[in-house]
Amino acid sequence: MLFDLRPKDSRSNLFDREAELGKVVEYVGRLGLPITLVLGFRRVGKSSLILVTLKELGLPSIYIDLRKFEERQYLSYRDFVLELQREVNNLVRRFPRLLDFLGNISGVSIMGDQVLLSWKSNDRVSLASLLDAVNDWASNGIVVVLDEAQELIKARGFNILPILAYAYDNLRNVRFIISGSKMGLLYRFLKVKDPESPLFGRAMGIVELVPFTREQVAEFLRCGFKELGIEFSDFDRLYERLGGIPGWLTYFGLKYYEYRDLDRALNETVNYATMLIRQEFENFLADKAIARDRYLTIMRIVSRECAGWGEIKNGLEVTLGMEISDSRISEYLRQLLDSAWIIKLNDKYCSAEPLIGMAFRA
Ligand code: ADP
Ligand code: MG
Repeated sequence: MLFDLRPKDSRSNLFDREAELGKVVEYVGRLGLPITLVLGFRRVGKSSLILVTLKELGLPSIYIDLRKFEERQYLSYRDFVLELQREVNNLVRRFPRLLDFLGNISGVSIMGDQVLLSWKSNDRVSLASLLDAVNDWASNGIVVVLDEAQELIKARGFNILPILAYAYDNLRNVRFIISGSKMGLLYRFLKVKDPESPLFGRAMGIVELVPFTREQVAEFLRCGFKELGIEFSDFDRLYERLGGIPGWLTYFGLKYYEYRDLDRALNETVNYATMLIRQEFENFLADKAIARDRYLTIMRIVSRECAGWGEIKNGLEVTLGMEISDSRISEYLRQLLDSAWIIKLNDKYCSAEPLIGMAFRA
C-alpha cells in the first residue's frame, strides 16, 4: 500500500524513483563502488530507496539506523557497537556460516549462536578486523548501510572515518550506503575535501532525492487513492499546502482515507508535521544554548517570506534589540543551511519546505 507510514521495502510499493533506484543499484551492485551517498530532506524517501535497493540487489546487508540518536547530545562507542551487534546477529541468523569467520577477532566472543561485541576500553572490538572478516566471508559483496550518518558527528571516543577509509582502500566486497538528511553536516562529517581527513579525495557515488513535483504529487495521490478505491481530485490545493515531501503526503493520504474530509485531513497533517518539525528543531537547538532565540527568530523571519542576508540581520537585531556581528549571522545561517532547515535560492534564504515554514509561522 502506498499510504503506509513505514519506509517502503519493495519496488511495488515505491512510487516512481525509477531513475534514483537505477542509479543506486548500479553504483552499489554492478559498479561495486565502495561508498554511495543517498541525500535528501527528512521524509523524502531515503530509507525507502535504500531498503528497496537492498531487496533488488539481494546481497547480505548490515543496516545501522542512526536516526535513533538524533535526540542525543553524543554517541558513545557502546551505543554504536550495540547497534552493530544486533545487526551482526541478524546476519548470522540468516547465514550461520558467517560465525566461522568471526571467531578469532579480538573483542568478539561467540556464545552458542550469539555474537557479542565488546565496547569496553580494555578489550574493544576492532571494527577494521570485523569488516575484514565480513569481507572474507561475503565473496559476492555485502552492503553496510549507515542511515542518517551525520549523527556520527556526535561520536565521542571513537571515529569511524579511518575505518571507512580502510574499507574503501582494501575491502573489495564491502560497500557502504551512507544516507543523510542534513547534507551539510554529512559533508562536514565525511570531510572529503579536507587533505588531513582519512577520506580525502575518495570518489563516491551520489544519489540525491528531491521532493515530488506538482505532477508527481498528483500521480502519487491518484495511485494511492485508487488502491483504496476512493475518489480524490484536489491535487493542486494539496500541493500548495503540503509541497512534495512524500512523508507528509503519505500521512495525508491515510488521514483522508480515515475521515473522507479534506479540511480535516489537511489540518491533522499540518498539526502533525508542525509538531514533529518543532520537536526536531528542539534537538537542533539542544547544544546551542544562548543562541536559541536567535535561531528561532531567523526561522520566523525566513518563514514569513524568503529573505536576504541584510533583511535577516536587520530583522534579528530589531526583534532582539541588540547588535549582532556579521560573522555571527553568517555562522547561524551556515548551521541552518547545513542541517537543511533553510535553503538558499537566488541569494535569498527560505524555509526548506512549506511545512517547515508553517511550523515557524504558527
Ligand atoms: P527518509 O528516510 O528520507 O526520512 P522514508 O523512506 O522514511 O524517508 O519515507 C518517509 C515516508 O514517505 C514513509 O512513510 C514512506 O513510506 C513514504 N515514502 C517515501 N518515498 C516514497 C515513495 N517513493 N513511494 C511511496 N512512499 C514513499
Ligand atoms: Mg530515513
